[in-house]
Amino acid sequence: MDHHPIVIVGAGFGGIGLGAKLRQAGITDFTILERTEDLGGTWSRNTYPGAACDVPSVLYCYSFAPNPAWSHKYASQGEILDYLRDVAEKFGVTGHMRFGTEVESAVFDETTSTWQIRTNHGEMTADVLVTAVGAFTEASIPQLPGMDIFGGSMFHTLHWDHDHDMSGERVAVIGTGATAIQVIPAISDVADEVVVFQRTPAWIVPRLDRSITLVEKTLYSLLPLTQRLMRTGWYAAIESFGLPGFTNTAFRHPFEALGRLQLARQVSDPELRSKLTPDYMIGCKRAIFSDKYYPALCRDDVTVVTEGISEIREHSIVDGAGVEHAVDTIVFATGFTATPRVGDGIKGTDGRSVNDVYRDRPQSYLGVATAGFPNMFTILGRFGAAGNQSAVFMIEGQIDYIVSGIKKLRKRGITRFDLRHEVQDAFVDEVHRRSQHGTWLQGGCASYYTNGSGENSGLYPNWSFEYRHRTRNFDLDNYEVVS
Ligand code: NAP
Repeated sequence: MDHHPIVIVGAGFGGIGLGAKLRQAGITDFTILERTEDLGGTWSRNTYPGAACDVPSVLYCYSFAPNPAWSHKYASQGEILDYLRDVAEKFGVTGHMRFGTEVESAVFDETTSTWQIRTNHGEMTADVLVTAVGAFTEASIPQLPGMDIFGGSMFHTLHWDHDHDMSGERVAVIGTGATAIQVIPAISDVADEVVVFQRTPAWIVPRLDRSITLVEKTLYSLLPLTQRLMRTGWYAAIESFGLPGFTNTAFRHPFEALGRLQLARQVSDPELRSKLTPDYMIGCKRAIFSDKYYPALCRDDVTVVTEGISEIREHSIVDGAGVEHAVDTIVFATGFTATPRVGDGIKGTDGRSVNDVYRDRPQSYLGVATAGFPNMFTILGRFGAAGNQSAVFMIEGQIDYIVSGIKKLRKRGITRFDLRHEVQDAFVDEVHRRSQHGTWLQGGCASYYTNGSGENSGLYPNWSFEYRHRTRNFDLDNYEVVS
């Protein structure tokens, strides 16, 4: 059977960044398994019209691979994918990737202290397994009455049908999250009519996108410190969303004022404005940066329906008030399932899968390790994502931790390491204690930020700089080890 010292699952921001930093540390015996035929993760799979980053690009990139050439304040999907390709090439990571290779199961073998991994291309073993599969991998599509008889096209934003021409069509978009808010302005220019089915209005704050001038690009290229300063400024601005998010709901007011201002400036029709006014606190679900969304909804050929969906017919959708909307195509912008598929196949020493451990009251330590899953690290595991910071910033913390861990384990000849249960319990208690007073939990909405009991389901409830400090070094004392 093939043996690989380090197996990384996923070639997105996590896998590529980890590969780059491992190589920088002189560690080259790793293999990256990627189920699709391309690298990029989220940024190769989500190709819907309008797909772009909602964090300024200067911050939505690795600190060790700045990009002075970003064309816009917020890069588009294609530009981010190109950036990831460049980083993977420049740091020599691409050659470590095996595409079209999906992990079906992984079980820890106590006798050899290795992971026994089964993929669609056969079996292999690994001393260390790292999952870097991201949180949003499987499309969530609601089962609506009559879906099976719909005569037009239907697809989820994750599986955008680029051969499908929407010009002249009546298109329904279901959902108004971050994805829908990018899709709707893009397709309203093409389709004849767009009907938006909104369940909960999002808080929208100004995006203020713009192109980066040649002068700025030249400056960033010749004087990298200037781009670092820009990055630090944006970091601080975005970090401030943590104030209402996890510290105290009282801090929400200035942020809500920004959202109300955007709504008042961009939507003059009182009826539409009322439909779009959230009745929960900002930050309860992810606030969205957009300058194009409200203007798109104000168009005569765009309708916002807030009455829900009662049934789908062959060529229409009937809303909860009984009004029938004729549509040719339905776009599901309804988000993702809470658990990635691979999480069902990775089993810990007590036989429970990663998804079992993440369900209900998730167990994890810093989103990077889980007790009962020896010799395994996770990137963006539960409580390792920030609700108020660039995901890439948090990923880099996890990468530092893992690289430091692998170096330490190798230096000491450790063959098995497993997080101590008491360390995990203390961390999970800390998470729930720290989450209590902010809008994530107290904001009066239902969101994937919380579980069925209204507890934090996966966000790190403290400042991201504190998180980076905690993940700077692998803390061996927190693990049970065997040499
Ligand atoms: P999402 O945030 O989960 O939003 C899903 C939307 O679908 C919500 O409006 C939800 O309404 C609605 N919905 C779900 N089921 C429904 C049903 N049965 N009937 C009617 N409406 C339904 O998903 P997303 O917008 O795809 O975003 C997923 C993640 O990707 C988020 O974390 C987002 O921030 C991230 N994202 C990031 C970027 C970026 O630029 N970096 C871009 C896009 C997305 P409710 O609110 O009522 O549940």
